[in-house]
Amino acid sequence: MTTVYKFGGASIKDAAAIRHLGELLASVRTRPLVVVVSAMGKTTNALEALLAAARSDDEADYRSRLDELRRAHLATVDALFGDRAARVAERVAALFEELDRRHRAHWREPRPFHYDQTICFGELLSTTIVSAWLDEIGTATDWQDARELIVTDACHQAANIDWEATGRKIRALPRDGDRLLLTQGFIGGTPEGVSTTLGREGSDFSAAIFAHCLEAKELVIWKDVPGLFNADPRRFDNAVQLAQISYDEAIELAWHGAKVIHPKTLAPLRQQGIPLTVRSFEALDAPPSTISAEGASAAAPAFILAEEQVLLEVSPRDFSFMDEARQHDILGRLVEAGAHANLVDSGAMRLSLCLDSHPARLEPLVEALAADYALERHDDLTLLTVRHPSEPLLEALGGGREILAERRNRDTAQRLFRSSECPGTWHIPR
Ligand code: ADP
Ligand code: ASP
Ligand code: MG
Repeated sequence: MTTVYKFGGASIKDAAAIRHLGELLASVRTRPLVVVVSAMGKTTNALEALLAAARSDDEADYRSRLDELRRAHLATVDALFGDRAARVAERVAALFEELDRRHRAHWREPRPFHYDQTICFGELLSTTIVSAWLDEIGTATDWQDARELIVTDACHQAANIDWEATGRKIRALPRDGDRLLLTQGFIGGTPEGVSTTLGREGSDFSAAIFAHCLEAKELVIWKDVPGLFNADPRRFDNAVQLAQISYDEAIELAWHGAKVIHPKTLAPLRQQGIPLTVRSFEALDAPPSTISAEGASAAAPAFILAEEQVLLEVSPRDFSFMDEARQHDILGRLVEAGAHANLVDSGAMRLSLCLDSHPARLEPLVEALAADYALERHDDLTLLTVRHPSEPLLEALGGGREILAERRNRDTAQRLFRSSECPGTWHIPR
């Protein structure tokens, strides 16, 4: 049975990291093995900035950003291969030329389409370099273009998977026992061969697609943290690692914004009972976290922070109520804008929506709502979500801060605060 590994940008951010990845993979005897890899470091952010420069017609800025990205990738190739760098450098340079060509061909088309034709190069570049490095150190590797395997519709930037077609393609791959199969996360393609992307941070989901289609034994996501914690260990000074978690609990954590796993990752695994292991690529001996059907659906509290939140308070301009028809209209506009509300709270005359401050999605939505409704907007907010909360816990976490919006159901409480009133590091009250 196949095992699937996924490595994120941090695990291949530079030559030293790629060397470390090579050692890790060389030491693993597990076969068949599929390895899904993201773009190097913060490349996708850099590509998004490049696209923004291109679309605002700032040719000089576009060019200098492209040169900087090319220089950074070629510097990694040089550091890895030394005087044998020429062949790989040539392939990397050719990918940058192709990126530039695609940009020139598509920059007048709608942004999501242009986005997918250019941003997919982050993963194509990283896997080209990693594949060459694995060959160099004698780990036999087959590089596969995920755009030919992950079949999607043409909903650019958030493409939907054609599970049937994807399953057929993935299962038809040669499964030579010894060679590991290396491919890209985050990217897919339409049946016509047009590149698509699955949404930011989507490489975890790509790995789950491979695991699902191959009925894998296990999916291992290698992270810069030892596993899944009851809160982001970088933000909570006393976060505790969870050894075993149920799919259902992990899905709730991811859905509410625990950045460690992309929310779409778990459902395709749960259906076949494929366990997901989250482990550290730095501390290889550290005990991991396992998400499976056997995992405890712990009623223990867990905490999720979402920053850079915006609160929109929407009210009718006339004297009507915020009834179902109004709510339907407002939420419909969110769907049209491709926006997601992290919290929805309604009163007689208003609907409060808390959203990520994502300019490309938020601003068109604000404009559309302001045309028909009275709108009050608050920026720079932090949303704290607590799973399985108790009253004293919420009280202690609130710290006397003003609550701008709140929502509570049986097992989850959400509170929206001003970021300026929130601590840099949080502490879970005992
Ligand atoms: P990747 O390189 O795979 O994209 P991410 O940066 O998306 O990795 O995810 C790892 C980060 O997730 C960690 O560095 C950690 O700060 C953050 N994180 C947020 N919530 C949690 C949590 N509950 N448990 C572990 N890590 C978390
Ligand atoms: N490279 C993509 C991103 O940064 C996908 C991923 O890393 O999961 O969003
Ligand atoms: Mg990620």
